[in-house]
Amino acid sequence: MPRHSQPRSPAVVHRTARAGLRLSRGQRRRLVGLLVSAGDVWACVLELNAWRRARQDAPLAGYQALCRELAASGPGCFGELDSAGARSVLRRYSDAWFAAAARRKNGDASARFPRRRHWMMPVRWHYGTFALDGRRLRIPVARGCPPLLVRLDRNLPYPPESVRSVTLLYDAGRLWADITAEVSVTVYPPGEQPDPARVAGVDLGIIHPYAVAGPDGQALLVSGRAVRAEHHLHLKDTKARRRAVARRAPKPGQRGSRRWRHYRRRQRIVEARHRRRVRQAQHEAASAVICWAVARRVGTLVVGDPRGVLGIDAGRRHNRRTRDWRVGHLISALSDKAQQAGITLTLADERGTSSTCPACRARIPKPRGRVFCCPRCGLSGHRDLVAAANIAGRLPGGITPAVTAADVTHRRAGAHLPGVSAARRDPRRRPHHGDVRGSPGRHLPAPPDTTGRGVARPTARTRKSATGELTKMCTRTPV
Ligand SMILES: [Zn+2]
Repeated sequence: MPRHSQPRSPAVVHRTARAGLRLSRGQRRRLVGLLVSAGDVWACVLELNAWRRARQDAPLAGYQALCRELAASGPGCFGELDSAGARSVLRRYSDAWFAAAARRKNGDASARFPRRRHWMMPVRWHYGTFALDGRRLRIPVARGCPPLLVRLDRNLPYPPESVRSVTLLYDAGRLWADITAEVSVTVYPPGEQPDPARVAGVDLGIIHPYAVAGPDGQALLVSGRAVRAEHHLHLKDTKARRRAVARRAPKPGQRGSRRWRHYRRRQRIVEARHRRRVRQAQHEAASAVICWAVARRVGTLVVGDPRGVLGIDAGRRHNRRTRDWRVGHLISALSDKAQQAGITLTLADERGTSSTCPACRARIPKPRGRVFCCPRCGLSGHRDLVAAANIAGRLPGGITPAVTAADVTHRRAGAHLPGVSAARRDPRRRPHHGDVRGSPGRHLPAPPDTTGRGVARPTARTRKSATGELTKMCTRTPV
């Protein structure tokens, strides 16, 4: 596989898909063994450089130099891990070291060289070392070891000849394979390719992850309510679990009980599932935006970047909201998909875009609800679409913002989330809908009011204090 493509060959991008692995017990043990051996390689490099530093030698960070050390160590040092897999760990170390060095050179004193050991490290195999046939993956192992053939748990979205590398990794109790492929940028029939002069503005939000205002008053709203519900349910569930096990939490310095370890393991699995769900929903939302843009031949997307103000402390509830938003992932997912579709994406400052009237440029206070209404010229519209139109106007030659959205397309993110349809009830939600099995039934109305309209019925506490007041008054009046 050549490292550099031929001149004038079609443009390509590299994209990665993650697949789970269907494994027997023995295969799982062997794969974990490979990852642990990779962790040993990493620890060896750290140790080597610690010795060199103690001797005041220059650190060994170049990839070739590290590979020479690996070759000098001879076969059989790292269990079943083959030299291509071990070299991928060296490449990872070298890249991390030089990235930190470059950041320190540019004055970022917080950048640190790699120094932490890991029990397991991800291993990557490049093209030609593994074999992928449909869902069957042959993972290379050291010479003399029995072959290792595993199955992926889903079909890959890429043609098999475009696959360039396979990465084996461990996340929250499960083994995964990241498959990276070389995907060509979409080629359109003549007359249907995106037109760079057609600009759409994108406003990022929590209720609407993407609100897009395009040319000719066309607009797209992607609803993120299912994602927000997922965040709320996850937080509620986590808090309930934490309360339930708080008694068993080990004191500092104490070893946790077996039940505590089970709880911690379960919590890691739940967290990972929550992360996967949100990530998938955000990818679906970004796909909806790109499909919409391609169908309307939009060639430039201007995205309002709110990341400048997210570091400001705004209280624990709002901090949690902005943290859950994961706006960096929203931007990167959209930018990756735009690049693959041949659409240019630029970032713009979004300050003041949701509080400026796109028609008369008047500054109005940020509306609390979803509807923007200008008191000066009477323009009214969806708040997020108004912001998106303003963002599009920030690009020189962007759309003339005064157009109000006439043709709004609605899409939802997170169609796969549990609880979005009646067929998949979310087990974290209290069941009270209809006569579902195990449901306590519909909420009943409050019992009829016997003490008169608008008067709070006395509870045990208020009744007692009221009689106390009455007796005090009674005893006081005769005196
Ligand atoms: Zn106005």
